[in-house]
Amino acid sequence: MQVDVLILGAGPAGATAALNLAPGCRTLLLDRQPEPAQRIGESLPPAARRLLTDMGLWEAFLDQGHAPCHGNRSLWNGEPAEQDFLRDPDGHGWHLDRARFEAWLRAKAQERGAALLSPATIKTIEPVSGGWQVLLATPDRVIQLQTRVVIDACGRASALGKRLGAQRTRQDRLVCGWLYGRDERIEATDGRSYIEAMSQGWWYSAALPGHRRVLALHTDADLPSARKLRQPGWLLAAATSSPNLGALLARAGFIADGEVRIAAAHSTVLRPGAGQGWFAVGDAALGFDPLSSQGLFNALYTGLAAAETCYRHMHDDPRAIEDYRQELARIERAYQHHLDFWYSQETRWPDEAFWQRRHLRASSTVAMPS
Ligand SMILES: Cc1cc2nc3c(=O)[nH]c(=O)nc-3n(C[C@H](O)[C@H](O)[C@H](O)COP(=O)(O)OP(=O)(O)OC[C@H]3O[C@@H](n4cnc5c(N)ncnc54)[C@H](O)[C@@H]3O)c2cc1C
Repeated sequence: MQVDVLILGAGPAGATAALNLAPGCRTLLLDRQPEPAQRIGESLPPAARRLLTDMGLWEAFLDQGHAPCHGNRSLWNGEPAEQDFLRDPDGHGWHLDRARFEAWLRAKAQERGAALLSPATIKTIEPVSGGWQVLLATPDRVIQLQTRVVIDACGRASALGKRLGAQRTRQDRLVCGWLYGRDERIEATDGRSYIEAMSQGWWYSAALPGHRRVLALHTDADLPSARKLRQPGWLLAAATSSPNLGALLARAGFIADGEVRIAAAHSTVLRPGAGQGWFAVGDAALGFDPLSSQGLFNALYTGLAAAETCYRHMHDDPRAIEDYRQELARIERAYQHHLDFWYSQETRWPDEAFWQRRHLRASSTVAMPS
């Protein structure tokens, strides 16, 4: 079997790369999960509209029935603040049904000619003249394949990039514990995301499509609150006893109906993010702190950018890889400046490790967001 591009990981970044590559070259998309699972990460910022429009996906996206997000409310450094998307030139953002969004992107890639193999993963990969020799493993067989280019779209573990010799750096130990539930009083929900700082991290809540709601706490893995996340009932009790968040949940008539799940949410960087015959996209290249709410945008953006760079690379443009690396470096700098700025604005808990760590990092690099 021979393809031009093999993409490992059919999440938002991998599927986006695939749907942009498939019209021009033989593209195979792999994922170890048979179907996208429901998982946290649902806020899509207004600027995503431009990317979806550029990729010819905007009208079809609107038909998917995701919930509009009209802005953000926050309680940061004790000050209530609102960011209203009414003034945003791209309109409002979105609270996605995440599994539906991912399944839709996969389907778009297939419509445009990509082949999808799931569940499947890479067993071995060796460089050969003009590309790579790969053994793929599916539950019932092993497939040998040659490809000119491989793309790591595996998410923040950067599994393929590391295998090809790149180094992944983890910047912090942020984890997220979250649960889902439903809002009984939907007339009281206003389509805004909510963020509130607490002594060992920060809270997040958002209304989702279908009267659903997510409630999450972000903290560092070694702090007491991370251990408490594992105690049944602790997350919900802590949220409802927090005056502002508790009032929001009460207004919405929130009823939790799921178990607490915990996931890594730390910032990561893969260096280099591309090399001869390979590229990393999305979280595999740069894993973002959810405070930025930019992970999905970055997945779409780098998926598209890597697809364009891949064409240049396959047409022997000697600058293609370096241009892509520089683009990743530019994104990383902008992300870091914004993140450091926002963490440095919360000053109420100078003795708490969560905030000390972030202030220490920010103190050398703080810049106003532009
Ligand atoms: C707690 C939390 C909250 C977040 N909230 C938001 C938010 O509100 N807004 C936002 O924009 N972003 C958010 N993010 C970030 C966002 O979820 C990610 O940036 C986004 O999922 C990145 O997409 P991706 O395609 O690069 O990686 P992923 O979504 O991680 O997809 C990777 C895919 O690769 C597959 N895979 C992994 N390893 C292998 C393998 N070895 N073989 C085959 N397949 C493999 C996986 O099954 C998966 O389908 C959040 C992240 C976290 C952790």
